[in-house]
Amino acid sequence: MREKVDARKLVYDARAGGYAVGAINHHNDETAQAILLGAKDAGAPVFMQIGRAIIPHLGIRKAYEMIRRSEEETGATCVIHLDHGSYDEVVEALKLGVDSIMYDGAHLPFEENIATTRKVVEAAHFLGVPVEAELGKIPEVRDLESVEWEDYYTDTDEAARFVEETGIDYLAISVGIFHGISSTTEPKLDMERIEALVEKTGVPLVLHGVSGLPDEMVRGAVSRGVAKLNIDTELRLKFREGIEAVWSEGDRHLEAALSEGRSRMRAEVSRKLRLFGGFGG
Ligand SMILES: [Zn+2]
Repeated sequence: MREKVDARKLVYDARAGGYAVGAINHHNDETAQAILLGAKDAGAPVFMQIGRAIIPHLGIRKAYEMIRRSEEETGATCVIHLDHGSYDEVVEALKLGVDSIMYDGAHLPFEENIATTRKVVEAAHFLGVPVEAELGKIPEVRDLESVEWEDYYTDTDEAARFVEETGIDYLAISVGIFHGISSTTEPKLDMERIEALVEKTGVPLVLHGVSGLPDEMVRGAVSRGVAKLNIDTELRLKFREGIEAVWSEGDRHLEAALSEGRSRMRAEVSRKLRLFGGFGG
């Protein structure tokens, strides 16, 4: 049996130390290896996230087993985490033995979201697994044109009540970020809101969609109490760059392309994790 990694302690230690833990999605074997090898190179722990793209593609079990295999091979320290899980997915992930989960009840009315999240927290905590939840909405990059940010931001009073009544361990917030990278819109974080959320909720905060955020902005968020940073797009682009570089030379084996993707992504994972972990000093 694999011993559980104490995900809660990693995030709370990061919060106390003024740095952040990186959380990255894998999409196949090579990206799983790239993340774990990059984490090992950086000497940093990493959240290996079973995300929204891989679940319909390979299923939670296969995604989980791929991480386990690469974890053993590389000897890296990783938290196996379910990202944006539905109720059924949370149950499946807990049965498999993940270290941390995110339950996403954003589609539910607020009161129902509180009630369901509390149920999830009770079950997960019984198994020693911490729970992340999200309040506010995080837009997709393709929808940015029509976004009224005030409708998307996390409300501080709602967040305080939500954390208090559900008992979640860390809270994902919406403060100006979006999923993806935009070539036209500069991301801008509402730092005052981050401060208010930290003060009112008392739990470490999580930022999704960190790709494309300037390092200084990330540093500002972390110094105010963000302790987990989810990043996907920028790393996926590195993987793609590697594949395209090899194939631009003509027809080559798929393995040669995947291997170059893996090594470029590995280097970028290591750079990001060093950056996130280095904020504390
Ligand atoms: Zn997200």
